[in-house]
Amino acid sequence: MFEPGFLTSAAPGAPSLVVHVRGATVRVEEGALPYRAHFLGSLDGLPCVAVDEPDAGVGTGFVELRRLWGQVGAQVWAIAGRAVQIVAWDVDHRFCGRCGTPTQALADQRARHCPRCSLDAYPRLAPAVIVLVERDDGRVLLAHNASFSEPFFSCLAGFVEPGETLEEAVHREVREEVGIEVCDLRYFRSQPWPFPHSLMIGFTARLASGELRPDGQEITEAAWFPASDLPRLPGEISIARALIEAWRERSQER
Ligand SMILES: [Zn+2]
Repeated sequence: MFEPGFLTSAAPGAPSLVVHVRGATVRVEEGALPYRAHFLGSLDGLPCVAVDEPDAGVGTGFVELRRLWGQVGAQVWAIAGRAVQIVAWDVDHRFCGRCGTPTQALADQRARHCPRCSLDAYPRLAPAVIVLVERDDGRVLLAHNASFSEPFFSCLAGFVEPGETLEEAVHREVREEVGIEVCDLRYFRSQPWPFPHSLMIGFTARLASGELRPDGQEITEAAWFPASDLPRLPGEISIARALIEAWRERSQER
């Protein structure tokens, strides 16, 4: 079990899980606890830390976090994702965003403090909603987003805007991207998505009204698919895939 934490009582040199981070790439290994590292928590008692390695060269075993999926267990992968986000936050907040003064890491919490204007910078999280929309005939809405690097279809998703509830974000995103109205929103589950610092919040919903009109910008193609004839789906790393698989199971039970 992983227990998150900020401070460790383990001494430098103690056995630990070290996530070396170079930008969006990582190298995970068991080794001695370094003197300077971001403590992340303990995995079955083993201290887990992140170490920023901006100068690590090529050929030193770093792999993209996405590609690490499947090479290590889901729990270690999640720890690596945590490490990437903590290091990125630390690097991105070396200077105060308000007055430009160099910041200092606080000793008692994960925050960088500005000694001049007292602004504190905490690790960033960008909440995003993702929704699987079903129609009364049992078909599911899947779409191809222009930002996808490969030709697969997935659920609709988008960032939550300031001042918006998660539910409002779902309604707005679906309306903006494909021009339909949905109802019967139900929470599914959530997933940290460290690319670079999102939290995906999954929902299911039903079509209330409207015809599909992909916006042509973000969404280049969208259609209603039956469980028996699905297009290429997103990888198993994603909550999108989990939403689709859960729907497929429900479809088979009917
Ligand atoms: Zn400042």
